[in-house]
Amino acid sequence: MNLIRVAVNGYNVIGRRVADAVAAQPDMQLIGVAKVKADYKARSAVKKGYKVYAADEKGRKNFDEAGIQCFGLSRDLVREADIVIDATPEDIGRQNKPMYEELGKKAIFQGGEDHELAGLSFVAQCNYDKARGKQFARVVSCNSTALCRVLHALDGGFGVAKANVVIARRAADPDESGKGPIDSVVLDPASIPSHHGPDVNTVLPNFPVVSMAMKIPTTHMHLHSLIVSMKDGSSLSENKIIDELGSSPRIMFVTSKKDGFKSTANIMDMAREMGRPRNDVYEAVIWKDSIKVLGREVYLFMAVHQEAIVTPENIDAIRAMNAMMSKDDSIRTTNHALGISS
Ligand code: NAD
Repeated sequence: MNLIRVAVNGYNVIGRRVADAVAAQPDMQLIGVAKVKADYKARSAVKKGYKVYAADEKGRKNFDEAGIQCFGLSRDLVREADIVIDATPEDIGRQNKPMYEELGKKAIFQGGEDHELAGLSFVAQCNYDKARGKQFARVVSCNSTALCRVLHALDGGFGVAKANVVIARRAADPDESGKGPIDSVVLDPASIPSHHGPDVNTVLPNFPVVSMAMKIPTTHMHLHSLIVSMKDGSSLSENKIIDELGSSPRIMFVTSKKDGFKSTANIMDMAREMGRPRNDVYEAVIWKDSIKVLGREVYLFMAVHQEAIVTPENIDAIRAMNAMMSKDDSIRTTNHALGISS
């Protein structure tokens, strides 16, 4: 089998996870990762057998001084690739796009970039086929990915009239020791809607969703409080909602009363128990016992592991853009490689 050659540009929270996920796929070859700093993460990449490239000449000098083998600059890596995962920080993807264009390479950007940069915002179960043959795509942010999965499933099953979501966002990722808040709740922003609702609309155009957000002092997951009004409430029930969400990919249920999931910390702990790499939870996690139907409205709580949830979406976007497999086959293959059971 001809393996598709994938480069990862930007190697930290998202890039490290996607690089490992690419390496785990049967139809992909990770040809290298590009990064700025010659730090422990670069050494760890080398230990895994990944070829490391520097973002620029200054970086290459730092790698040489640190005794870390550097195979060239990110441009050299991109030249060798069929497709690039750009997992650089917000706005750097925009700066990198001319390089991908000049070298005629496909690239996948992340949620920190604007929709317009790629022209296609992607969530596998919602719009896989729209990515077919595209040079550029953007995997939407962690919160938008989770919302798209759940709202798309509910809309397909029952028809959504309107969705409202309040998001308590983790303030920082676990390795960001300099970020806060550490003792307050920060409106993010005070004005409504937050960017999440409009971002869902880059994948599900015209979908009626309004979002509000705040930052809370945790590094463990985001928490969504969702209220979804259905077009017709006559046949709704909690069990039907559970069946619909349960048959949709990458949604996991937990229970508070029965299984003791009282908090996001319990979910991260479960991921440790499962032996997931880096404790990653790729699924949107819904508390089954929070699902409540009142008339036409469905209520639920959902947790989102911000570091991990977009990993499978990046893998599926690679296959979609290169017409390598059907949507269902790609989701199945990605899930199998990552140990996702649903
Ligand atoms: P990050 O800052 O953790 O990692 C980015 C890495 O890219 C860093 O190591 C940085 O040094 C490196 N970098 C910077 N400039 C570079 C360049 N020119 N060439 C190569 N490498 C360069 O960022 P992240 O959290 O992984 O986020 C990456 C993207 O994914 C952003 O668009 C972000 O919005 C999005 N995203 C982040 C999360 C999250 O929770 N962290 C979740 C979903 C989506």
